[in-house]
Amino acid sequence: MSEKSSQTEQELQRLRAIMVSIDDAIISMTLDGIIQSWNPGAEAIFGYTELIGQSMQVLLPPDRLDEASDVLLRISRGEKLNHFETMRLCKDGMLIRISATILPVYDDQGRVVGASEIIRDITEYKIAEEQLRIAAAVFATHEAIVVTDADANIIRVNQAFEDITGYSSADALGKNPRILKSGHHDKGFYKAMWQQLLASGSWKGEIWDRRKTGEIYPKWLSISVVRDDAGNITHYVSSFTDISERKASEERVRHLAYHDPLTGLANRFSLHERLTQALDLAVRNKRLLAIMLLDLDHFKIINDTLGHPTGDQLLIQVAQRLSSSVRHSDFVARLGGDEFVIMLPEIDASGDVAHVADKILKSLSEPYLINGQELRTSPSIGICLYPEDATEDQDLIKKADVAMYHAKANGRGNYQFFNEGMQQAALKRIRIERDLRVALVKQQFMLHYQPQLDLTTGQLVAVEALVRWQHPEHGMVSPMEFIPIAEETGLIIPIGDWVIQEACRQLAQWRTGGINHIRMSVNLAASQFSDRDLPARIQEILAQYDLPSGSLDLEVTESMTMKSPTDTVAMMKVLTGHGQSLSIDDFGTGYSSLAYLKLFPISTLKIDRSFVKDIETDADDASICDITVLLAHKLGMKVVAEGVETEAQLKYLLSIGCEKIQGYLISRPLPADQMERFIRSHTTMTSLGTIDLWN
Ligand code: C2E
Ligand code: CA
Ligand code: CA
Repeated sequence: MSEKSSQTEQELQRLRAIMVSIDDAIISMTLDGIIQSWNPGAEAIFGYTELIGQSMQVLLPPDRLDEASDVLLRISRGEKLNHFETMRLCKDGMLIRISATILPVYDDQGRVVGASEIIRDITEYKIAEEQLRIAAAVFATHEAIVVTDADANIIRVNQAFEDITGYSSADALGKNPRILKSGHHDKGFYKAMWQQLLASGSWKGEIWDRRKTGEIYPKWLSISVVRDDAGNITHYVSSFTDISERKASEERVRHLAYHDPLTGLANRFSLHERLTQALDLAVRNKRLLAIMLLDLDHFKIINDTLGHPTGDQLLIQVAQRLSSSVRHSDFVARLGGDEFVIMLPEIDASGDVAHVADKILKSLSEPYLINGQELRTSPSIGICLYPEDATEDQDLIKKADVAMYHAKANGRGNYQFFNEGMQQAALKRIRIERDLRVALVKQQFMLHYQPQLDLTTGQLVAVEALVRWQHPEHGMVSPMEFIPIAEETGLIIPIGDWVIQEACRQLAQWRTGGINHIRMSVNLAASQFSDRDLPARIQEILAQYDLPSGSLDLEVTESMTMKSPTDTVAMMKVLTGHGQSLSIDDFGTGYSSLAYLKLFPISTLKIDRSFVKDIETDADDASICDITVLLAHKLGMKVVAEGVETEAQLKYLLSIGCEKIQGYLISRPLPADQMERFIRSHTTMTSLGTIDLWN
């Protein structure tokens, strides 16, 4: 063997040794892709022990079958491919990611005859690289992340950490996370935290820390322990978010749940809580407690006529005045609408409460300035005492409400202490309501009729239908007792409908019997009068009994018309447009605006009985009658005087030009058959000239 050939031989040996020992696959092939050499690295990577003589194609994934020919074409042109990354298919079907360096193999003449390929499996490296990328992305979240070593020295923080804590990473690195402490938590807190962290590997919870600026803030923190394969702690990783905003909005939600958004006062819910607590204390300390229930007078009118924004402003001012009228230890809540509750938990005697009630009454009755407009209202207050009147919270409020109802009935603008009598009255109201529902079904109502006499002709011209309730146990119940309750409960609508129906039926019957000159007056309740369906309903009933629309007169009170004058005008116009006439009932007892009175299409004012009663003895009452007649005539209306009982009253009324009278002097209200007889006999009497009262 020549020296040269032995040198080459040595070289080859060395190369073979490299090929055998290297982890990378080293493969050579012809330009057709037929494998010519295959080292143990190739075997380790691809799983084939021998592929010599086979085509490269076996190593190609199905979607890359063209790749080998492309690459070999480039190699045949003398190109070199460095770190060419692609996928390969192993014997076991696994796809791996590889990096290949492919070089041309030349023959003696320098022609490319094949390719050699050095292949490295980079699958794991790629996965690791990907994980690093994910880790970096995680690190960039809005959650602050702190990594410390086993000795709790900070070794890494992210941007969010800098943003939340105010410390830069330069500030933090090498430090203990102790730098973030606020002093808000005691040693025990941190001890428990470490115990759990070491025992379970993680800790989560809310913690108050301090920013670099000194500001203390709440954060939601979770810490986990990182251990190596041997179980030794290598790192601690903690992440946290700033929850001060969430806390603030929770606080806002809590505030909303416990407060009335309009006035900022406590609401019904917090009243219940506070009252329960206060009652516990009162029981323990054997103290008195008072509950005041306060309702504004005529608030609905203000709201309806001046608009809700004005109503709201008024409520806000009332709330302010209430808050400043009571002591710090007292508690003011708004139950809703214009209802307020004041709880006085520290009183010594009921006199104390009366004193506070006086103060509130005075303060709330002062004028209110709203949008440059001066408004007035007053409160009606009901007071209930613990333990005298009630011991349970709901009972206290209920009884304060009963007392408040009495303050309203007592002319408003006053306060009333609860007493058992009120309770009885309240129970009676409830009983009446229950019985009224039965009365409707069982038809326990009937009508009595009271005639109206025309003083200018001496003729009976109309009858007023007055409802009666024949209660199976209590006998005849006065409308004064049940109409207000029917109004409160809405039962007045079906009752009122029955009254119109029955009055019309009776009138039609009389007309069939030859009584043609009598008109029918029917009283309307407030809710009936504001019911848009009323005119159509009346038309329907009139048609049902074939009555002329002019035969019906509707009586409404002043307070009903003044509640919402514009709606009143509209309703009145529809009714009079249909032919019905309208009277104002109980005139003089309410409050009328002359400006509106002028606008209303009313034919008659009915002077209230209270003025007629003392017409001869009370100069003021007499003047009211005089003025009413004058006013009515000026406005083109007629006058009916109610409750005329004596001839002297009649004479006076005649002297001032009052056209009609109604009262016991002519007749008490009578059932239909008696009234019919009365009407027939009266006609006879006048025609015979036996009545000469007005001579
Ligand atoms: P009102 O409309 O003012 O009715 C007149 C009331 O005065 C009737 O009382 C009548 O019996 C009574 N009265 C009549 N003349 C005299 C008299 O000379 N002296 C005295 N002392 N009283 C006299 P009544 O029937 O008890 O009705 C009371 C009130 O109940 C009525 O007052 C009216 O406001 C209401 N009412 C009666 N029926 C109805 C109805 O069907 N619907 C509505 N909404 N209210 C009604
Ligand atoms: Ca009436
Ligand atoms: Ca009346």
